[in-house]
Amino acid sequence: MSALSDIASGAEFPAFQPGSVWLVGAGPGDPGLLTLHALHALKSADVVVYDALVSPQILAWANPAAEQIYAGKRGGKPSPKQGDISLRLIALARDGKRVLRLKGGDPFVFGRGGEEALALVAAGIRFRIVPGITAGIGGLAYAGIPVTHRDITHSVTFLTGHDQSGATPSQIDWPAIARACPVLVLYMAIKHIGEIAGHLLGNGRSADEPVAVVVNATLPEMQVLETTLGRVADDIVAHDIQPPAIICIGQNASLRLALEWQSGNGPRKLNPLAE
Ligand code: SAH
Repeated sequence: MSALSDIASGAEFPAFQPGSVWLVGAGPGDPGLLTLHALHALKSADVVVYDALVSPQILAWANPAAEQIYAGKRGGKPSPKQGDISLRLIALARDGKRVLRLKGGDPFVFGRGGEEALALVAAGIRFRIVPGITAGIGGLAYAGIPVTHRDITHSVTFLTGHDQSGATPSQIDWPAIARACPVLVLYMAIKHIGEIAGHLLGNGRSADEPVAVVVNATLPEMQVLETTLGRVADDIVAHDIQPPAIICIGQNASLRLALEWQSGNGPRKLNPLAE
């Protein structure tokens, strides 16, 4: 790690200016999936404002002198209001701090990074965006699921399972999604999967369609539930699946039968698509 630390604090990286905020993705969990820009930011920041899904090992790489502020949801307590987090970032930057806002996955994928960046713009604070590996791509890869595959998936659709009110997103056009989107990658969808699956089945998707639920993706405790669209809601309850989990609905989910590489068990089928 020390060699990497040297790289990340080196001159070839952009200087983290006092009074600025960097919105940085920490990836889905495995510390090895952090970018060098993110590592450089951790080494340089005066204060790290982090979310619930950021691994402790990643936070351990922060400059020991940096203040660490938790801004996520914990133990069912209400999460800090988004506006309050943005105001805090602005106040810290105005104090002359190098402010690292560290988020799980990618800051611009269901991470409210856009909202925080807009608040920084309105306040006249300089900022930088450091993308991260999003759970819906990297997490699936750890489960042996390519998010696209040439013959079967011409598009991928990322969906959130709940909106700000906690309900399933009311604006989603389910008939259109069911018809036109061969691969669906669902974030934050464990609670409402029954309703979501019902919309898809009711609009023509097959109950046999492969589904993978990847829990704690990329972490040592990762679990993968292999199921179908018809069974996914019941199976999630039966296996007591808890967030964080990514749900992949589509034929590509079956590629795991050949491409699962984490278990060390080898392929169960050489080409699941050939059948
Ligand atoms: N910005 C993040 C997403 C934040 S929303 C990203 O790009 O990945 C939080 C949701 O992300 C969780 O409810 C879950 O659906 C998904 N997620 C994040 N990390 C995960 C992980 N390690 N394993 C499975 N799902 C994860």
